[in-house]
Amino acid sequence: MSLLSPFFAKSNIIMEESSGQNLSDILETMREGILIVGEDMRVVASNSAAHVAFARNNESLNQKRLSEIIRDLSLHQAFSKAIESNNSSRVRIEIINTNTRIFDVRVTPIELDEKMQAIGVFYDVTQVEHLERVRQEFLSNISHELRTPLTSILAFVETLEDGAIDDEKNNRRFLSVIQKNAERMHHLIDDISELSSIEAGKVKVEVKKLNLFVLVREVFATLSAQANDRNIILQNEVPEETFVTADIIRLEQMLTNLVDNAIKFNRQDGIVSIGYEQSTKMDIITVSDTGEGIMKEHQQRIFERFYRVDRARSREVGGTGLGLAIVKHLARLHGGEISITSFLGEGSTFKIELPKQSPHLESSV
Ligand code: ADP
Repeated sequence: MSLLSPFFAKSNIIMEESSGQNLSDILETMREGILIVGEDMRVVASNSAAHVAFARNNESLNQKRLSEIIRDLSLHQAFSKAIESNNSSRVRIEIINTNTRIFDVRVTPIELDEKMQAIGVFYDVTQVEHLERVRQEFLSNISHELRTPLTSILAFVETLEDGAIDDEKNNRRFLSVIQKNAERMHHLIDDISELSSIEAGKVKVEVKKLNLFVLVREVFATLSAQANDRNIILQNEVPEETFVTADIIRLEQMLTNLVDNAIKFNRQDGIVSIGYEQSTKMDIITVSDTGEGIMKEHQQRIFERFYRVDRARSREVGGTGLGLAIVKHLARLHGGEISITSFLGEGSTFKIELPKQSPHLESSV
C-alpha cells in the first residue's frame, strides 16, 4: 500500500475502491513529489518522492504544516490561493541546504470530500538548470574566444585597406598577424567540434596493444621544431619494449596535447620528458616539464573547458583552453584518468593512467 492510499481510500473522488488504489499507485510511482494540502495549510497526503525530497529525520510529512516542511512564502501563497480562490499557479522554489535543490512547482485546487484542498506537483529542475547554466557559459566563452581573433583580423584588414598594403616594411607582418589569428579560430573550431563529438558519445575508442616507446618517438618528432625554437630537450624515458593498451590515434592526441603544453609553458632551455610506470591494474604514462608550474588552487580547474591560469599568456602561445578538457575525456573513454602534480617554479607532471587489458591483443605499431 502506498503513502497516498489511506487518503484516497477515504476520499469520495474514488468511485470504486480499485480505481482509488490505482490512482494512488500512479501518484506513488511518479518521480515528481506530490503534496496535498488542506484548508488549515497542513499536509493531508504526500507521495514517496516528496518524502525523499522534504522529510527531515525520515518523519512522515502528513499532518505537518506546509511552512514547517518548506519555508517559502511564494509556495505558501500559491497553496492558499488555490484553496481560497480556486486559482492554479506555478512557482519556482529553492531548498537551500548542503546540496541545494530547485523545484518548479505547479499548484492546483482540488475538491475532495467537499473540502477545498490544493495539490502541488514538485518537479526537480536542479539538473536541468545546471546544464542550462553550463551551456550558456560555454556559448559565451566560445563567442568571446572567437571575437578576439576576429576583431584583430578585421582591424588589420582595415589597416591594409587604408594604405598599409603599400607599406613594404609592414604589410607582410600585418598579413602574418591575420594568418595567425585565422589559424587560431580554425584551431578553436576544431577543438570545439572534437569536444562536442566526445561529449555526445560519438567518439569510440578502439584499443589495441601498442609500443609506447615508438609512439612517444613519433609525438616528439612532430613537435621537435616547436621544441627547437625554445631550445627545449625532449626526453623519451620509456623503455623500448613497453606495451600499453590504448586507441593509438587517441593516445597520440593526448600525448601531443600534453607535450605541446609542456613546451609552451616551459622555460627556455627546459626539458620535457615522457616516462612509464605501472601498477597491478594500470599503465601509467607521465609527461613532465621544467616549466613555471601551476598553483594548487588551479590544479583541478585546468581540466575544465576554457579554464586558463593566465588567459593572456595562453592566447599569446596559441592556446584554446580546451586541450586538457579533451585529454581528460579521452582518458576517461579508455576507462582511465588524468591527474597532475605540480610545484610552482619547478614544473609539472601530468599522469595518464590507462587500464591494462588482455595480453592476447596484437601490437599495432
Ligand atoms: P591551452 O590551450 O590554454 O593550453 P589547456 O586546456 O591545454 O588550454 O590548458 C589549460 C591551462 O592549463 C593553460 O592555459 C595553462 O594555464 C595551464 N597548463 C596546462 N599545461 C601546463 C603546463 N605543462 N605547465 C603550466 N601550466 C599548464
